Amino acid sequence: MPLKEYRKKRRFSATSEPKGKVSRKKPRQLVFVIQKHQAKRLHWDLRLEDEGVLKSWAVTNEPSLDPKIRRLAVQVEDHPLEYGGFHGTIPKGEYGAGKVEIWDQGTYTSGHPLSAEIERGVIEVVLNGKKLRGRFVLVRFRIESNKAQWLFFKKKPKPTAIRIGRGLNKAA
Ligand code: MN
Repeated sequence: MPLKEYRKKRRFSATSEPKGKVSRKKPRQLVFVIQKHQAKRLHWDLRLEDEGVLKSWAVTNEPSLDPKIRRLAVQVEDHPLEYGGFHGTIPKGEYGAGKVEIWDQGTYTSGHPLSAEIERGVIEVVLNGKKLRGRFVLVRFRIESNKAQWLFFKKKPKPTAIRIGRGLNKAA
């Protein structure tokens, strides 16, 4: 039940977030979305479509196009696909209370099924958004109180040529 935790945390009588369901449609293109969420603590929710839901991470700072800037991304519960279109204000007293706006959205591709990469702890995707474009990486580095912590960053472009000086380190 991929959305069990999502639903358990929310009162749909009080919030306008979608109750949602696992999509059975075969996607033509996989989508991603990043929602800027002004909750108790401001964060950016990164969501990647996989198997009819949105795999989700709370990124603690604004994502960057600079490969040197690595953002902490705490994996959170799967969200329904419809959540990708959600923006608005979650009422006070409700889970995640505060303003949600769509910060970026688009499609993505990955070389392997996302679920396999999540299992492995290394995800590489090409994002095709308005703000974020190009190859991005998520690397799981620890699990703390049952929550997987990942680093999210732009992959450094491959240098066009690397030449290692032969003989430089040869002992005399
Ligand atoms: Mn959030």
